[in-house]
Amino acid sequence: MKRILITGGAGFIGSFLCERLLNDGNNVICLDNFYTGSKDNIRHLIDNKRFEIVRHDVISDYAAEVDQIYNLACPASPIHYQQDPINTIKTSILGIINMIGLARRCKATILQASTSEVYGDPNIHPQTESYWGNVNPIGIRSCYDEGKRCAETIMMDYHRKINLNIRIARIFNTYGPRMALNDGRVTSNFIIQALKNEPITIYGTGDQTRAFCYISDMVDGLIKLMNTDKNYVYPLNLGNPQEIKIIDLAKLIIKLTNSNSEIIFMDLPQDDPVKRNPDITLANELLDWKPNINLEQGLELTIDYFAKIINKD
Ligand code: NAD
Ligand code: UDP
Repeated sequence: MKRILITGGAGFIGSFLCERLLNDGNNVICLDNFYTGSKDNIRHLIDNKRFEIVRHDVISDYAAEVDQIYNLACPASPIHYQQDPINTIKTSILGIINMIGLARRCKATILQASTSEVYGDPNIHPQTESYWGNVNPIGIRSCYDEGKRCAETIMMDYHRKINLNIRIARIFNTYGPRMALNDGRVTSNFIIQALKNEPITIYGTGDQTRAFCYISDMVDGLIKLMNTDKNYVYPLNLGNPQEIKIIDLAKLIIKLTNSNSEIIFMDLPQDDPVKRNPDITLANELLDWKPNINLEQGLELTIDYFAKIINKD
């Protein structure tokens, strides 16, 4: 049994991580400032004696006795991280500095939730960990991309200087139940629009691609990375390499929901990456990990969830 801190534990990925680590018999502290997360995501865990919720902002220092830290605190959806960009970059940079301080004091292993956004609008496809990326440092996505890149730098420097035990997960687009209704990311937007028979909003032509990983596969990957006995400290891609054009995602969701929604085209946001797909060879070799849930299966599970939520409203 370990004592595990999950920052951003009331968010989409964090809440599933809390649940899984509790089910595995650990003590879990869920730390969150509820900026994009919600108590609803963790309400079902509250009665568990091994579970604790702390309202706290990672921009400030935090003390506890823990063996492992998953640092997930950060708004992840473009509309939310762009809403208060200064807060976003502070969350990434001051957040990782504070959590590293805690990891040092406790001699804990710390895993940073990094992102495929560190590759920016990539010139290498699919993206391998050795690619340094193509990121605009002064654009509207930079508060997130550069914050996450800098957090990786800080992690590696602490590792080299004091041998801090680190893990860096470069998470690619992940989706599933418990994404907030107002999250704004593409899978939840399209599913909600389709279920309500409202227009499906495609930004740009829809020819841009992404590759979507179902939440349970991502949680498996994160836990395997944290606990690998191979002591791997470099960034590792985690994602599902099933690449799809956004227009085809819209058509698939319309089909799966049996929706009457029309497709409408809107302006493409600045610096929206043209293509993205993880090369997960390394994760497969190192962790013996690959996703088990294909896009259609994952979408069906997510559609079931949103259908229930929308009917309740
Ligand atoms: P989310 O927005 O649902 O969760 C983020 C959580 O962090 C929320 O509960 C929010 O309230 C909390 N938070 C934000 N700022 C905070 C702060 N300053 N102090 C404390 N808590 C704070 O997003 P998610 O999809 O669950 O993402 C979790 C992590 O994974 C993020 O770090 C994100 O960058 C990373 N990630 C996610 C994806 C994805 O596709 N879901 C892809 C790449 C990386
Ligand atoms: N997107 C879209 N319609 C939406 C939301 C997003 O066409 O309602 C597009 C967006 O422009 C991007 C892709 O879908 O090309 C994925 O967007 P998301 O915000 O989910 O993630 P990210 O851009 O960070 O990969």
